[in-house]
Amino acid sequence: MAKRVLLHTCCAPCLLYPYEVLSREGFEVVCFWYNPNIFPYEEKMRRYEALRDYCASQGIELHARLSVPDDFYRAIFTYTHLPGRCSRCWYLRLLVTSQWVERLNCSAFTTTLLVSRYQDPAEINRLGMEVSSSQGVEYLPYDFRDGFQWAHDRAKELGLYMQKWCGCIYSFNARQRALLRRRKKRKSEGVRV
Ligand code: SF4
Repeated sequence: MAKRVLLHTCCAPCLLYPYEVLSREGFEVVCFWYNPNIFPYEEKMRRYEALRDYCASQGIELHARLSVPDDFYRAIFTYTHLPGRCSRCWYLRLLVTSQWVERLNCSAFTTTLLVSRYQDPAEINRLGMEVSSSQGVEYLPYDFRDGFQWAHDRAKELGLYMQKWCGCIYSFNARQRALLRRRKKRKSEGVRV
């Protein structure tokens, strides 16, 4: 019988490649949604619903722990800046995933966060191993970034919803600032905006 692995899943596009790799390696993949970091609520639900619909269309088992943002703000505490904020955000999501491994009849866990070029797989794997020792649950370290572009193209082909910021309010604000800077630059170059 295939070993069931609980795959913490941040969104549908990021699921594509890790799901392929883990399935190819003989694992039965069970997806787990727990992302209290995502701001605002409408965005969180949009990402979740895109994932839910994709999993349903592919017959992929998905479990969700829909949460309020308090978990995230408690986890980051006063660390609102990088890199401390992201480490705490990753740790929280890995920790909660690990606590669902046995309940969902899985024997190990890992995360789709490891496919993103915008995250830090070395740090995520370090945190995964830390959670593994504290919770007594096996963590599978990976670096899925070689599939990032493939997953991006595939997600576009499939028409999956693709988010424009990492997740939290801080990343949302950073994007707003970047858009504003771009707009000002274009204006200064005489482009009508
Ligand atoms: S930028 Fe992304 S990883 Fe970092 S705290 Fe925000 S949501 Fe989490």
